[in-house]
Amino acid sequence: MVENAIEIRGLEKIYKGLKDAPDKVALKGIDLTIPRGSMFGLLGPNGAGKSTTINILAGLVNKTAGSAKIWGFDTVEKPRNARANIGVVPQELLFDAFFTPREMLEVQAGMYGVPEHERRTEELLDAVQLLDKADAYSRTLSGGMKRRLLIAKAMVHNPPILVLDEPTAGVDIELRQMLWAYVRELHARGTTIVLTTHYLEEAEELCDTIAIINHGEVVCCEPTSDLLKRIDEKEMIIEVAEALSGIPPELAAYQPTLKGPNTFAFHLNHKTTTVANVLSAVSAAQLTITDISTNETDLEDIFLQLTSNKSAA
Ligand code: ADP
Repeated sequence: MVENAIEIRGLEKIYKGLKDAPDKVALKGIDLTIPRGSMFGLLGPNGAGKSTTINILAGLVNKTAGSAKIWGFDTVEKPRNARANIGVVPQELLFDAFFTPREMLEVQAGMYGVPEHERRTEELLDAVQLLDKADAYSRTLSGGMKRRLLIAKAMVHNPPILVLDEPTAGVDIELRQMLWAYVRELHARGTTIVLTTHYLEEAEELCDTIAIINHGEVVCCEPTSDLLKRIDEKEMIIEVAEALSGIPPELAAYQPTLKGPNTFAFHLNHKTTTVANVLSAVSAAQLTITDISTNETDLEDIFLQLTSNKSAA
């Protein structure tokens, strides 16, 4: 049995520019170890390189350098074994409109060489609550139903690893809860889960370990609880142009201390006193910010703070 579900070493990707367009460096040497049985979050802003990483694992994008192993199988040396051990739920809802969910799962199972007596079409449709739509044309399914169908499709060959690329993009709260319940159930049954997101909240709610990737590099990778603790220990200092005699009411909820007539200090936490919330309160108080600093000017934390608030993302 393998110890690590996924091992990525020095992974690089350069997308060649078409005609005169410049090349695009998407991954600059990524190292990631995803232990078997984990619920792993790949967190980063748009354009960070999350999908590129996932697509290399899925065999949809060719890497430029480095290596990736899935369940111990190198994606280039043992592509079939590697692919057999991973199911990927893509970001886009691409469908053949004239297939029904049942047909789609059967075709996919056929592509993976799953013998008919081992297929679990009914069970999978039931698990994603689409049994009543089994024979409806996929063009008649709602966005949420399509996404659930994609999860079922990624699971037809019963892979030990399930990767979800931005699974809740455009999904309402109720459906999100349902999706997560199913993903948690799969995880409880032993499936290693990897998901990409640009929301800290989402990664925080689900994942035991979070890697942050930005500009094609891993900025940090650690247990979720350690990461959150680190954020909560931050202090942010804001200087404003206006001279103040007290704390403006708009800022009171965040309990800043006045360090001087123009300077506040805030104790950040990842739930309420986030960078985004503080900045909007300062702006609501109609103050002009002249300087912002943290006790450790750590860009990754600022990034985390910003991504922790969905309305600010
Ligand atoms: P993320 O999933 O984190 O949003 P991506 O992996 O999609 O990031 O993109 C990483 C970078 O690579 C971005 O700058 C993006 O514009 C670029 N990129 C992604 N796909 C292509 C492509 N097919 N051709 C050229 N550049 C691409």
